[in-house]
Amino acid sequence: MRIGVPKERVDRERRVALVPDVVRRLRAAEHEVVIEAAAGLTAGATDEAYVQAGATIGDPWGAQVVAKVAPPTADEVARLGGDTILVGFLNPLGDPGGLEAIAARGATALAMEKVPRISRAQSMDALSSQATVSGYRAVLIAATELPRFFPMFMTAAGTVPPAQVLVLGAGVAGLQAIATARRLGAVVTAFDIRSAVKEQIQSLGAKFFEVEGIGDAEAAGGYARELTPEEQQLQREALSVQMGKSDVIVTTALVPGRPAPKLIPAAAVEGMRAGSVIVDLAAEAGGNCELTQPGETFVTDNGVKIIGPLNLPSEMAEHASALYARNILSLIELGFDPGDEVVAGATVVRNGKVV
Ligand code: NAD
Repeated sequence: MRIGVPKERVDRERRVALVPDVVRRLRAAEHEVVIEAAAGLTAGATDEAYVQAGATIGDPWGAQVVAKVAPPTADEVARLGGDTILVGFLNPLGDPGGLEAIAARGATALAMEKVPRISRAQSMDALSSQATVSGYRAVLIAATELPRFFPMFMTAAGTVPPAQVLVLGAGVAGLQAIATARRLGAVVTAFDIRSAVKEQIQSLGAKFFEVEGIGDAEAAGGYARELTPEEQQLQREALSVQMGKSDVIVTTALVPGRPAPKLIPAAAVEGMRAGSVIVDLAAEAGGNCELTQPGETFVTDNGVKIIGPLNLPSEMAEHASALYARNILSLIELGFDPGDEVVAGATVVRNGKVV
């Protein structure tokens, strides 16, 4: 197969869909790879490195498979051939119009967001690989912005207590945030509405925060369901005390296809100490904190810094791309057999029709 990799063009996107190491593996399997000039530069991969790995530098759009990270821009859609298979994050739930535009070209498209989260497809699970990066990065940002230490210090100049970190939502990003905050020496408390994660939270050395009155809210596919308004109120009240004690809150709570649940009301932010930091990883879906401004960082009147980062994986473009490229490689290795459960699950446009 001939596989093309365009340079990503949208704002804030520094990742690239394939890295030289993965190109080498594709070449060993007799695939051809065409990389657009400078496609990997922002992720630390030079054109020379791609050429050494066996790729050619050229126009990627004539390939049978075009691998991307971000959804295609209008210009990119216009370059899609009718028999091309496009693979990438395509935001199928958030932007159905984008799929229609791809379909109008007659192409086929697989959305990485729709790869089924079954054991066999773990190596293709780009949501997980990128969420791992986000969870890690979120804690580093919090640690940098916090005017306090994370670890406890006993020094001749006095004792510094460890930071109290609260992680809301303990999926892939949340668990990585917990692990990172623990490594830095913070005392971590975490909460999720799926009781299955209690043990995972505890195994990372964090406390599981129990909210009475909310049963297990696990829905199909292991994802969370949306809480009822009454349950949401219970949750906010129970958590507000813990929020007031926290130096840092990292929130990652998401329900697929729904706006992010508002877990931190403005009143809870008012109860936090000046200097405390909230990193809201759900900013892209509207935010878990009522005050979050997606893409912005600001300080509230009572001195709490609220950070609503967009596309954190892109800030660690080298490793985020390396992991993503392995996800793409595993998908390519499957072949594009429409009868395969994973391929069928990820296919959002087939031969010009949105499916
Ligand atoms: P996600 O990004 O959709 O959500 C993040 C977390 O927010 C989830 O843990 C969710 O339960 C939690 N959440 C939602 N509403 C909440 C609320 N009101 N309060 C607190 N927390 C709330 O989830 P994700 O990280 O992509 O993964 C979620 C599920 O997918 C998990 O069950 C995970 O085990 C499963 N998964 C399976 C595989 C696999 O088998 N291949 C791979 C990755 C993830």
